[in-house]
Amino acid sequence: MMGERGIAVTGVTKAGLGSTEVADAMLRGGVRGLGDSRIENIEAMNAAGVSAPMTLIRSPMMSQVDRVVQHADVSFNTEMDVIKMLSHSARSSGRMHRIVLMVELGDLREGIMPSDVEGIVRKILHLPNIELAGIGTNLACRSGVVPDTENMGELSSLVNTIEATFGLKLDIVSGGNSANLQWIINSKNPGRINDLRLGESILLGREPLYREPIPDMHTNAFTLFAEVIESKLKPSLPKGTLAQTAFGEQQVATDQGTVAQSILALGRQDIDLNGLHAPPGIEVLDASSDHLIIASAQCLRIGSAVTFQLDYSALLRAMTSPFVSKMMVNRTISSATIEKKRVAAA
Ligand SMILES: *Cc1c(COP(=O)(O)O)cnc(C)c1O
Repeated sequence: MMGERGIAVTGVTKAGLGSTEVADAMLRGGVRGLGDSRIENIEAMNAAGVSAPMTLIRSPMMSQVDRVVQHADVSFNTEMDVIKMLSHSARSSGRMHRIVLMVELGDLREGIMPSDVEGIVRKILHLPNIELAGIGTNLACRSGVVPDTENMGELSSLVNTIEATFGLKLDIVSGGNSANLQWIINSKNPGRINDLRLGESILLGREPLYREPIPDMHTNAFTLFAEVIESKLKPSLPKGTLAQTAFGEQQVATDQGTVAQSILALGRQDIDLNGLHAPPGIEVLDASSDHLIIASAQCLRIGSAVTFQLDYSALLRAMTSPFVSKMMVNRTISSATIEKKRVAAA
C-alpha cells in the first residue's frame, strides 16, 4: 500500500527488543530497512545476522556514539554536539555516518525548531565523515498531534528549501510513524515524504490515532499466556483501615459479594495493566509488581493459563521483560500445537 504511494517503510523493531524473528518477518514483508530506538537492539540484530540497513531512530547518547557509528547506517539527530561527536568517531574509524535531522512540527518531543534547520544544515555540511541523508519528523507521540496536510506540507517545503538553498538532494524524508497512515491513505499527494517508520501498525494491525484495526492486517499476532498461581473465593471488599497501596493509588472497590479471584504470575514490571485485553468472563482487577489479580466466573485451575491480547504499551513491556519467555510460532501452526509448545516451554 505504501509502495503504491511512493513511500518506503522502515520497520520499527523496538517493541520486539530486537527480535531476529520479528525483524526477519518485517523484511520478508517488504520493509526497506529496520529502525530501532536502542543501539543495543540494533547490535543484537546485527550479531544475529539480520541483513538490512539499520537506523537508530532516537538521538544517539553521546556516550554511545562509537557504537552508533559502528552498528547503525543512519541515526536520527537533533543536537549539533552529538553530530560533531558522530563525525569525530566516524573519522577515526574511517567510516561514513548518515544522519537524518528531526524537525519539531508541533508534538513537542524531539526535533529542531523549523527556523533553526537551515543554520544547522550549513554546519553539518562542513563536518567530515557525516552525510546528511535527510530530514524527518515525529508526531502523535507526546502530545497526540495528528499528521495532516498542514504539518506534512511544512516538512515538504522544508525539504524544498534546504535542497534549493544548498544545492543538494535529500535521500530520506521520513514523515512519521504509524499515526501517519490515515494521512497517507487519504492524501492524494504525499508531497516530498518518501519514508514512514512503522512499528505498531505492523505488529498489532492497528492505527494508533483511534486504535482502529487496519483492513487485511492481523490484530492477534501476539498472545500473552499468564499462569495461575493462586485461585480462591474471596470477598470483593478489603478489610481493615485503608491507606496507600504498593503503587500509591487509592483503592476503590465496590461490594460484589464473594468473587472467584485468581493471581497470575505477572506484574507491572511485565505488562501495562491498562493495555491487557482479557478473554470474555475474565476481569482484570489490579496488579502489583509481580501479581496480576483477576476475577472470573469460576475458580481457575492452578497451573492453567489465561491468555491476553496486548496493546502497544503492554506489548512493549512484555517483550522487554526478562521474566516473560518469548516463543515464536508460524501462523500455520494450529492453536493446539501452540498450547503444546507452551506447556513444553514451561
Ligand atoms: C517508536 C517510533 C516509531 C514507530 O512508531 P509506531 O507508532 O510504533 O509506528 C517511529 N519513529 C520514532 C522516532 C519512534 O520512536
